Amino acid sequence: MKRYLKIITLGTLAIASQSAWAQQNFDSVEIEVLPVRDGIYMLVGEGGNITVQTGPDGVLLVDTQYAELGEKILAKITELSPIPIRYIVNTHSHPDHVGGNAVLAPRGSTITGGNVARLQEDAGEGAQVIAFESVLNNMVAEDYPVESWPSETFFVDRKDMYFNGEGIEVLHQPNAHTDGDVIVWFRKSDVVSTGDVFTTTMYPFIDQSKGGSINGVIAALNTILDITIPRAKQEGGTLVIPGHGRLADEADVVEYRDMVTIIRDRIKSLRDGGMSLEEVKAAAPTRDYDSRYGRTEGFWTTEMFIEAVYDGVQAN
Ligand SMILES: [Zn+2]
Repeated sequence: MKRYLKIITLGTLAIASQSAWAQQNFDSVEIEVLPVRDGIYMLVGEGGNITVQTGPDGVLLVDTQYAELGEKILAKITELSPIPIRYIVNTHSHPDHVGGNAVLAPRGSTITGGNVARLQEDAGEGAQVIAFESVLNNMVAEDYPVESWPSETFFVDRKDMYFNGEGIEVLHQPNAHTDGDVIVWFRKSDVVSTGDVFTTTMYPFIDQSKGGSINGVIAALNTILDITIPRAKQEGGTLVIPGHGRLADEADVVEYRDMVTIIRDRIKSLRDGGMSLEEVKAAAPTRDYDSRYGRTEGFWTTEMFIEAVYDGVQAN
């Protein structure tokens, strides 16, 4: 319950401008390290989950939480690998996922090999920060510090990389949680980092102010399911690191995709039948899922979710 409340509190800040949460106190936050598979770790603190891939080539991160946690995060990463951070992939532009770039990117190095001293700003030119191009646009518009900006952007559906002995695919998911979402697939380790198109904690947050849409979220969840493979009759198989919440597998994503699709279809059929937004809300199309995913307060309430879905299913 404590964690649940923390997520709501910080989530509120996550959609405010990034300066609005700058005075928050992160002193009591501890960064927990969860081994996932084959040199891949999940870091949980405050804000979005971080994926750390380690190996002979160095460190690759997916997302960086908040700037205020950057030193604590770097200390944990240094325990996992003596080699610098070479790449940071950002899943989207919300401050609970990209804020830490400002601390972590300058301390990394794009120079290959293990002989580059860590924690020296002159050790290299900083880590390369990779994101879909709209993430850079959003971060520039919202006055993020220059050192946190993506240094390599792309606008195609799929960017591939090879790092630490494995192929990594960065897959753009158009107009889902935002306009710049990517999921990151570690092909050899069989791990997927989803960003906020999948969480285990709440109804999908559809940030319409940044181009998010219900149909984009469902398409992204289906893309995750295209990649994941279950292990027969038990937990495991492809491991899924969600934007927020606990480590998951294909069955968790199936359950979530089904929930979101059922609610979308219910709201569409009510809207197609002529119901106003208020009538749809009164019909409680999410009722059977609210005990698990519903919120009556915070930055993303059940009511806001219904409104965003209602907007998104408009016949055209
Ligand atoms: Zn987000």
